[in-house]
Amino acid sequence: EPSGFTPFAGRRIAVVGLGRAGLPTAQRLAAWGAEVTAWDDGEVARRAAEEAGLVLSDPASGSFRYDALLLSPGIPHLLPRAHPAAARAREAGVPILSDAEFLFRAVRAAGSAARFVGVTGTNGKSTTTALIHHLLRGAGRVAEVGGNLGPPALGLKMLGDEGVYTLEMSSYMLERIATIRFNCAVMLNLSADHLDRHGNMAGYAAAKANIFARQEPTDLAVLGQDDAMTRALAAQVRARLVPISGLGRVAGGIWAEDGVLRDEDGDIADLRDAPALPGSHNAQNAAAAAAVARELGLTAGEIAAGFALFPGLPHRQERVGALGGVSFVNDSKATNADSAARALASYDRVVWIAGGMAKDGGIESLAPFFPRIARAVLIGRDAPILAATLAAHGVPHEVAGTLDEAVPAAAAAARAGAAPVVLLSPACASFDQFTGFDARGDRFRALVRALVSGDMGRA
Ligand code: ADP
Repeated sequence: EPSGFTPFAGRRIAVVGLGRAGLPTAQRLAAWGAEVTAWDDGEVARRAAEEAGLVLSDPASGSFRYDALLLSPGIPHLLPRAHPAAARAREAGVPILSDAEFLFRAVRAAGSAARFVGVTGTNGKSTTTALIHHLLRGAGRVAEVGGNLGPPALGLKMLGDEGVYTLEMSSYMLERIATIRFNCAVMLNLSADHLDRHGNMAGYAAAKANIFARQEPTDLAVLGQDDAMTRALAAQVRARLVPISGLGRVAGGIWAEDGVLRDEDGDIADLRDAPALPGSHNAQNAAAAAAVARELGLTAGEIAAGFALFPGLPHRQERVGALGGVSFVNDSKATNADSAARALASYDRVVWIAGGMAKDGGIESLAPFFPRIARAVLIGRDAPILAATLAAHGVPHEVAGTLDEAVPAAAAAARAGAAPVVLLSPACASFDQFTGFDARGDRFRALVRALVSGDMGRA
């Protein structure tokens, strides 16, 4: 970016929510000239912001004199659950914006024509976002990835005209944009989810459709065809539409058929050569990524090579190593029982590492999968709660305390013949022992690597 670059000079921006993303976001807005007022309802976060030199004040009290309110993603802005600061902003007619909106404005203010790819849908957002970015990088493009996946938008580098930003856009981010025009917008699918915050399905679909709202006819809109609600959004698209499907032929689009990705001109890529993209849901993700990659000038060869080399997403059923016929799978992202169920359903027999801070209801809902658990090795604060549930169902288990103790214990049990897979899928939050699920997964990966290389002392 140009030195002395202050695209937001004189703009009064209230930033509410100063967690891992909010704090650096507030700092970058201040560096870009904004008059930032920072706030967090938690005292610890406020103190950290103060130490970082930010001006603190609660925008919900006193007169609301701001040009924009930036709310942390987890903070609701819709009634009846709206945060007081959001309620004040709405009363005052002040826009509530997401960090992606400020990235877009800053990039355009710097005079860059870098392209913006937005990805949304109920499922597959992270995979598709990561896959598009992986294809671009593999083809030697200058590219950044973030948003809901990875670093917050304002943690990304400023890119010049050749650059491409791929942003995962959750529905709350899509409700908090005002000017972003996506050169390529992807809507994968829609199903009942997050209805608590949007009230009803129509409201949820409307929020998601905002990804197409400012597109021009020269832009690209990629629209999933595998559910009726997504298909119906075609009426709201002004850009060039490419329909995609993971289930079979769609006229004029890109689809998967017998494990091969095709368009009207022939084969694009054989997905059977892409080990990290199994299943028809991933075929849908791959079709979307291919549509975007092609729009951005990648060849079929570059797309196929990128699929084959895609490592999958870290911390989501990520295979991190193998030793003596035992595979180690990092599913640290599974912070609740529902997502752990998906991982447990993928394997016939596992040694299961779980625990941390349990969610309401614990792991009782996982009972249908207990027969697949040869042995459970439990970690973290709520290990005793999980142990009680497992004991009631007669599942063999032990309490290891920490992940450092759990990995060798689980590996030993698996290698003694208990199961061919050691699965870390904790069904619990990580904050009792780690800074987040990613730190937990990184530690697991390091421990497995050390185990595989025969050097536990190095982890
Ligand atoms: P999101 O970011 O939308 O939560 P992810 O890419 O992280 O989605 O995938 C989360 C889980 O959703 C995956 O483990 C898989 O089980 C499922 N999934 C992935 N892609 C799709 C899709 N296109 N349709 C339905 N389910 C999917």
